[in-house]
Amino acid sequence: MDDTSDDRPFNRSDWRRLLRSLHEDPDRPGLRETPARVERAWEHWTSGYAQDPAEILKVFEDGAEQYSELIVVRGIPVYSHCEHHLAPFFGTATVGYVPKGAIVGLSKLTRLVDCFAKRLQVQERLTRQIADALMTHLEPTAVGVVIRCRHMCMESRGIRAIGEETVTSAMLGELLTNLGMRTELLSLERAR
Ligand SMILES: [Zn+2]
Repeated sequence: MDDTSDDRPFNRSDWRRLLRSLHEDPDRPGLRETPARVERAWEHWTSGYAQDPAEILKVFEDGAEQYSELIVVRGIPVYSHCEHHLAPFFGTATVGYVPKGAIVGLSKLTRLVDCFAKRLQVQERLTRQIADALMTHLEPTAVGVVIRCRHMCMESRGIRAIGEETVTSAMLGELLTNLGMRTELLSLERAR
């Protein structure tokens, strides 16, 4: 088999080498296709680097001129990998904002979260990047992002109890100073 490396990260010769270093035989039937599969999987899991948040938020819907209340979208799926262990962390995001003329659909918010989640991340930075992108490209009055995730690297090694979530938040604009609005967002986020 040709193991010559190319310049892409996570290429299949690297994964063959990893399998060997785990005392496995990369040529046994169960593993023969694994390097190619893992390579494709990592291309998908890191596809966010090629996505531009400005592009995702470029086309917004008008019609929110009269609306200046808090809009909250909950349960946006988050699938990411921690940059310290390359281990999955996953959960959900709640995104709240107060529009100033422009609103975005649920699919845009899902794509925005995904574009930052499909990179190597730490949960704190992921949360902040989503909030910053919304503030920059949608220019609302306020943005609040809350993310709850379970981290494989912590749970599987006993650093966190199984099922325990890490909660991070980022508040911008009016949500920084308006305690009532912040309380409203956080109670909507918690309500199930
Ligand atoms: Zn980790």
